[in-house]
Amino acid sequence: MADKLVRGQSTDGTIKVFVAETSELVGEAQKIHKSLPVATAALGRTLTVAAIMGQNLKNDADSVTIQFRGDGILGNIVAVSDNKSQVRGYVVNPLADLPLNKKGKLDVGKAVGKGDLCVIYDMGMKEPYSGRVPIVTGEIAEDMTYYFAKSDQVPTAIGLGVLVDTDCSVKTAGGYMIQLMPDATEETAQKLEEIVRNAPPITEMLEKGMTPEEILFFLTDGFDMLVSNETVTPVYKCKCSPKRMRDAVISIGKEELKRIIDEDGKCEVECQFCNSKYVFQKDELLKMYDLAR
Ligand code: ZN
Repeated sequence: MADKLVRGQSTDGTIKVFVAETSELVGEAQKIHKSLPVATAALGRTLTVAAIMGQNLKNDADSVTIQFRGDGILGNIVAVSDNKSQVRGYVVNPLADLPLNKKGKLDVGKAVGKGDLCVIYDMGMKEPYSGRVPIVTGEIAEDMTYYFAKSDQVPTAIGLGVLVDTDCSVKTAGGYMIQLMPDATEETAQKLEEIVRNAPPITEMLEKGMTPEEILFFLTDGFDMLVSNETVTPVYKCKCSPKRMRDAVISIGKEELKRIIDEDGKCEVECQFCNSKYVFQKDELLKMYDLAR
């Protein structure tokens, strides 16, 4: 099924729910980065939660960035989304591999390791707003749940899943996020907790052919829900351009630019998000040098 993100809220406004299928989006990320399964799962889960969080952004220029800075074999994981759930991301070591864990699952927690989780909201103000918490399990969903509880003080349930096929391609991916607003009752919280605890993994529900809407209603069984009829298609989309790359190179500063001009005479940069290559020749580098600080 095609990727889709749906959102809804309870009629009393105390519950907010987001459900997304992201199979194509995560499949695209796997193809770009040629990642092995454990990296695909870690990046896919992070991209999926970024796409969901993008729905809470107001303006077209706003972005949310999620960074897992763990000491595991994957190295840093980065995912960025805009308000249309157009996402991009990378993992430093996409070819890292680990044996399955004791449960026979991809060992994402171990591959991510211990360290920090940073969430950065860029709303076009001078200083972006950011929050940082320690990585709890490295399984991504638990870490994001912890982040919302600790940093935003919003009780949140998150489920994320990526099913990788035997040829390393992505079979199914998706996720959900349920958030309780401040006036939610203890009864609502307990009821939701029980549903989530007993719910099958999101990939299992998607594999069974359930649509994101059906999953949304399943996860909020017993509550009166209003689902937004605005359709959102989360996609993998890089935003790099010659201008952005040029600005990035200029930002390294005069000293470093001078070294590049003297030693190499040209500069080749590759976008970490989509692997596009940009080459700047000497005449252009000299102009950039004048603009650098
Ligand atoms: Zn790019």
